[in-house]
Amino acid sequence: MKRIPLLDLKRQYKTIENEINAALKSILDSQHFIMGKEVSEFERSMASFCGTKYAVGVNSGTDALLLALKAAGVGPGDEVMTVPFTFIATGEAISNVGARPVFVDIDKKSYIMDPALIESKVTKKTKAVIPVHLYGQCADMDEILKVAKRHGLKVIEDTAQAIGAKYKSKLAGSMGDAGCISFFPSKNLGGFGDGGMIVTDDRDIAEKAKLLRVHGSSKRYLHSIIGYNSRLDNLQAAILNVKLKSLDKWAEARRKNAAFLDEAFKDISGLATPFVSPGNEHVYHQYALKVSREVRDEFIKFLVGKGIESRVYYPVPLHMQECYKFLGHKEEDFPVSMESALSTLVLPVFPELEKQELEYIVDSAKEFFK
Ligand SMILES: *Cc1c(COP(=O)(O)O)cnc(C)c1O
Repeated sequence: MKRIPLLDLKRQYKTIENEINAALKSILDSQHFIMGKEVSEFERSMASFCGTKYAVGVNSGTDALLLALKAAGVGPGDEVMTVPFTFIATGEAISNVGARPVFVDIDKKSYIMDPALIESKVTKKTKAVIPVHLYGQCADMDEILKVAKRHGLKVIEDTAQAIGAKYKSKLAGSMGDAGCISFFPSKNLGGFGDGGMIVTDDRDIAEKAKLLRVHGSSKRYLHSIIGYNSRLDNLQAAILNVKLKSLDKWAEARRKNAAFLDEAFKDISGLATPFVSPGNEHVYHQYALKVSREVRDEFIKFLVGKGIESRVYYPVPLHMQECYKFLGHKEEDFPVSMESALSTLVLPVFPELEKQELEYIVDSAKEFFK
């Protein structure tokens, strides 16, 4: 039986093995692991890639969100809006700066923040909005930025899944006050461990984030603010410098795979392919299908039987997580997030998938829905 994983990083590594090994060897030879020239080089490259003035490497996407919120002045007593249909890190960052997450439901077709729902939730305490560019597609930034401007809110983009995605020709992460990127191994640009970055045009946010990531210090053993230990590792930066060169090519391959699946699934009733909102260029971190909630788990089981890995991102929305019980929400408070958690699944779409594998996925899905 064939086995098609959701992601096969070994295939990607094989294509760049020599270059990666050489980059690692040079760091090993230098024995320079913290804040070396590889980090600065990668920051320059990322700022240029995203079209922002500044890029600050940190140790994870989660910390990018945390430090960006802190740097933007969000703290205890503040409210920050985000969606419940996201990875826990988005909510965690809000909670860990001492603010309160206020959830806004998502759009039924695109699974990203519904901008029409933001304004009614603005209070005197609202300080910021975190739109999540879920699965590799940007949120409706024009609308979100409009509301944010009217109420003086900071906009922090959760760009963990959408590096390289475009919204009306603008790069993900470059439109709000700051963009937060993750280099977790499974992300579209993944390191060999944890890593993250804040990209921004705001000098104050960049300077503050740089202080926060090294114990609030710009001069050794002098600490102007209370910070963290949250640096991007030099080894990771060396790897990411190599990988960044292939990112556009990989995104193109993901789009091609998604287009193949879109076309093949068109005629299957009972299955909705990803919706790309007008003006968006999707990078397909995930290829998400919607089916009826009655058959979703059965479909996943059927695919397992066929050797095809699929997964649910995310099965429990944040408003129903035990850690957020204190917010007192009920399932029906965010019906679209709830429904999406019960009726979506993601299929393999990674760049190195072969044509026969895509065809096998399609044939298997057709067999199920027949
Ligand atoms: C991966 C992810 C994060 C966190 O990134 P880490 O690097 O794993 O800390 C945050 N938000 C979303 C939407 C993610 O997918």
